[in-house]
Amino acid sequence: MTNIWHPFTQHATAPAPLAVAKGEGATLILEDGRRIIDGISSWWVTTHGHNHPRIMAAIRAQTEKLDQVIFAGFTHAPAETLAAEMLKIVPPGLRHVFYSDSGSTAVEVALKMALGFWHNRATPRTKIIALEHAYHGDTIGTMAAGARGVFNAAYEPLLFDVARLPFPSDPKATLAALEREAPNAAALIVEPLLLGAGGMLMYAPEILRDMKAICERYGTLFIADEVLTGFGRTGTLFACEQAGITPDILCLAKGLTGGALPLAATLATPAIFNAHYSQDRRKTFFHSSSYTANPIACAAACENLAIWQGEPVRERIATLAAMQEDRLAPLRSDPHFGNVRRLGTVAALDVSVSDPGYLADAGPLMAAKFLEQGVLLRPLGNTIYVLPPYCITGAELDTIYAAILAAL
Ligand SMILES: *Cc1c(COP(=O)(O)O)cnc(C)c1O
Repeated sequence: MTNIWHPFTQHATAPAPLAVAKGEGATLILEDGRRIIDGISSWWVTTHGHNHPRIMAAIRAQTEKLDQVIFAGFTHAPAETLAAEMLKIVPPGLRHVFYSDSGSTAVEVALKMALGFWHNRATPRTKIIALEHAYHGDTIGTMAAGARGVFNAAYEPLLFDVARLPFPSDPKATLAALEREAPNAAALIVEPLLLGAGGMLMYAPEILRDMKAICERYGTLFIADEVLTGFGRTGTLFACEQAGITPDILCLAKGLTGGALPLAATLATPAIFNAHYSQDRRKTFFHSSSYTANPIACAAACENLAIWQGEPVRERIATLAAMQEDRLAPLRSDPHFGNVRRLGTVAALDVSVSDPGYLADAGPLMAAKFLEQGVLLRPLGNTIYVLPPYCITGAELDTIYAAILAAL
């Protein structure tokens, strides 16, 4: 029996966890010396590669100065610099940065900001609208916004109701449902362009733009959960850019520190901030995490943004997108695969199996086969996806795709 309880792990059936000693670019090196290509960016966080020297150096430098400090009534240079730099690169119109420490908390903060906005304006709206197949985190509030299923059946009685829009495979139906729900809703929350945990499902920027326009018409707040899509995954720095929209609230986490340390940010427009700005202390935004704006994590994030500025990251992303496309092309006509798709750096395909559900054995069986070949991939049900760090080489990608074909 293990004394450590691992995430999303059924210990009765899962193989023993692999002990990792080192990270290097797109590669994980195990205690026993084996090398594993990290085809999922260590659960979608690692952007430039493991142990990026500049981020590691920035962390070391910050540890010489300040480890942690209460963030109510105090501030520090790494948090100030990071907020200022973030506001220069996010969609225009966002002005305020609230820090927390994970994607789930970034979304919880966004939902609380939206509800606080309506509460403080004394025009109560409390309904949240979300997409079918959505994933926004694993806390109670974020599970409520996310799709219901085997993951949250035990907690379902305590999850609040949300209005659910059909996934935009038929955009007209999605937009019509939004037209019905938006007039009295507090907010719509979406994963822009790419629904990750729901199965790497993709939809077009025009639909995102149309959803934003409908929300605007009814004063319904628009929350973009870019926890996965932020920092280049979809080919642009943020997915919202492709639709030319600015959300009222933007959630960032995974790639914010380049994947090195836990840090999240929820960004808001002046309207959201001003709804909480008052001589009346009851209108305060009542939220905090102990480690809000941890200085070491902020220093890592500042260096990540400097890397985006100073290194050819966009070129690397374009190259990776093209390399993915080259390897996907022959699979588009392969009868073993269906719905072969790509958005920016992310590639996904469905394997035809008799039971495609998340609990089907196909996923873990394939994952074990991939590992035998030195490749870390973690299929979602029958969906295989490749979501690598941007430093991955063509040869490493070839190994990943060879493993996919071999696992069939
Ligand atoms: C991973 C993810 C989250 C949750 O982030 P954590 O840091 O794991 O809490 C929220 N939203 C989306 C879209 C995600 O992919």
